[in-house]
Amino acid sequence: MRHLVWFRTDLRLADNPALYEATAGGARVEAVYVDCPEQWRRHGNAPIQRDFLRRNLQQLAEGLAVLGIPFTLLRTDRFDQVPALLAEWSAARGIDALYANRDIGINERRRDQAVQQALGFPCRVFNGDCVVSHGSLTTRGGDMYRVFTPFAKAWLGRLRGSGYRLLPAPPRQGEALPPAPIQLEGELVASEAWPAGEAAASRRLTAFCREQLRHYGERRDYPALAATSSLSPYLALGVLSPNQCLAAIEAELGSLPLSRGERGFSWLNELIWREFYRHLLVVFPALSMHRAFKPETEALRWDNDEQRFGLWCRGQTGYPIVDAAMRCLHDTGWMHNRLRMIVASFLTKDLHIDWRWGEAWFMSRLIDGELAANNGGWQWAAGTGADAAPYFRVFNPTTQGERFDPDGDFIRRWVPELAEVPAGAIHAPHDWLARHHPGHGYPPPVVDHGRARLRAIAMFDALKERE
Ligand code: FAD
Repeated sequence: MRHLVWFRTDLRLADNPALYEATAGGARVEAVYVDCPEQWRRHGNAPIQRDFLRRNLQQLAEGLAVLGIPFTLLRTDRFDQVPALLAEWSAARGIDALYANRDIGINERRRDQAVQQALGFPCRVFNGDCVVSHGSLTTRGGDMYRVFTPFAKAWLGRLRGSGYRLLPAPPRQGEALPPAPIQLEGELVASEAWPAGEAAASRRLTAFCREQLRHYGERRDYPALAATSSLSPYLALGVLSPNQCLAAIEAELGSLPLSRGERGFSWLNELIWREFYRHLLVVFPALSMHRAFKPETEALRWDNDEQRFGLWCRGQTGYPIVDAAMRCLHDTGWMHNRLRMIVASFLTKDLHIDWRWGEAWFMSRLIDGELAANNGGWQWAAGTGADAAPYFRVFNPTTQGERFDPDGDFIRRWVPELAEVPAGAIHAPHDWLARHHPGHGYPPPVVDHGRARLRAIAMFDALKERE
């Protein structure tokens, strides 16, 4: 028996159902990753994520080599070329079964269907990216939940009833092999600020649980504090699994916090949001096709002013918390969740620019870019998504800054023009700057928030009139 494990967004040895099952019966196992640079470009993922992918593939190749499992990096341009490539490669090696963990984007699912048709042997597909398998949580009517709270309740009920299963890394299957060097084509941006590999992810997870988990609920909204896990790049590429996160919570707290109000629950709740968006993506393929979850919002008349979009991208809006967040994204490839919500609200409800522009910009910059969470977050902020922010709830960027960066520490770190501005003036700094630093170079506010807010509400009200 010769089994092929096809790695995709599950770049880990431990708690990898496909790898575990492929090796379980004593079959000889080989592994591949199929890189598709043209597809990467079409999906608009970031060069920093591509570099992070390269480094994690290298770690994976080394880990597999130690276990004596041969690993090959295959390359073809697009997904539609993958079936023929895998069929030919498998035939040449006498492969008789393929093992993979499920990918959830629509293009990935079409690719996988075509692969299954092209191969003349069984393909076994597993749930490796969610604690609770997609499609297995439904309302009484058999539909996918469209609102988070009942989904979370059902998710917690499942966890209480069935627990979760954490799988070990597979055993050695032979002498250690020399690891293949991994090179990827296309633009790469250095990602070394994020150590690659499962061991690095696991160290970060343990340190987060030890130092931050208990206080996460109170501290998570303050970007200057670094009180969140920053594990999203690892979860996005599957270097870390959500089951491993649960195991770390349990190891730290002695048991899983399964009810609101228990210490550590707020962090578990974020992992449930992650699963909510992933389950939605599977059930509603339109979300993978740039479509709004609420179809009626397709009629919104966005301004789509390119100049204003450029100011937002470059962190030149004249709203300090927005500019600090966007410059942080530019320089690091990562942004804190509170800031993602603020800048997404600002783009859609203050600048009246289509959420799809922001979604694509994020994707092209984020090291943790991931379709389900990115689409979910953007549609939430724009008011077009499942269980989205109500359309009349428009974040005020000044008061958001005052609440969540009260001393302006985060702003000063990323906007040097404001380095001298005292805390009391930093969220609306223009008067202070005019008096103390006339040549400061910080831009005036691109829009008046009060007026922009009313306009956003009117845009949504106009939809109701059409009904
Ligand atoms: P923690 O607070 O430590 O949370 C732990 C994990 O839970 C995260 O790593 C992430 O996997 C998951 N998670 C947390 N919050 C959310 C959420 N709101 N939705 C879904 N999953 C969540 N997350 C991505 O991983 N990739 C994206 O491309 C992405 N784009 C976003 C775009 C917008 C407009 C918004 C509002 C949110 C987006 N998020 C995205 C969700 C969230 O902002 C990040 O997951 C989080 O900031 C990552 O930081 P962390 O690892 O420290 O999170």
